[in-house]
Amino acid sequence: MTQTESFDIFWEAYPKRGGCKKGKKQARAQWLRLNPSPELIQIIMDWLEHDRKLRERNRKRKQFYAPPKDAFRWLRDERWEDELEPLPKPKPKPKPTEFARCSCGWQGYKEKEGTCLCPKCGKPL
Ligand SMILES: [Zn+2]
Repeated sequence: MTQTESFDIFWEAYPKRGGCKKGKKQARAQWLRLNPSPELIQIIMDWLEHDRKLRERNRKRKQFYAPPKDAFRWLRDERWEDELEPLPKPKPKPKPTEFARCSCGWQGYKEKEGTCLCPKCGKPL
């Protein structure tokens, strides 16, 4: 892959600001000057993906999250070194429960799968 091709991928992934992207020519020149290694391209693409997810999350929360400045300055200032707010880990799904009754009189909810012991007498439910 040539650096012109890798730039096109970068440009495609780079977020719009106010509905448009500006300074493609300058950004391309900057990219060619940077001449990023495949490792660096990966770091940059990961950063952009992380940034995209943060913006998507904030849009859902109706919080403003400014996209990065134009690509030329972003590249020039090596902004991929910026630390991003970590993405929240997906919450584990709650385990399905079902109502259970024990001969000792206890009743309540137990996990649907697997064996549960009665919290009162310790017998398997
Ligand atoms: Zn019991």
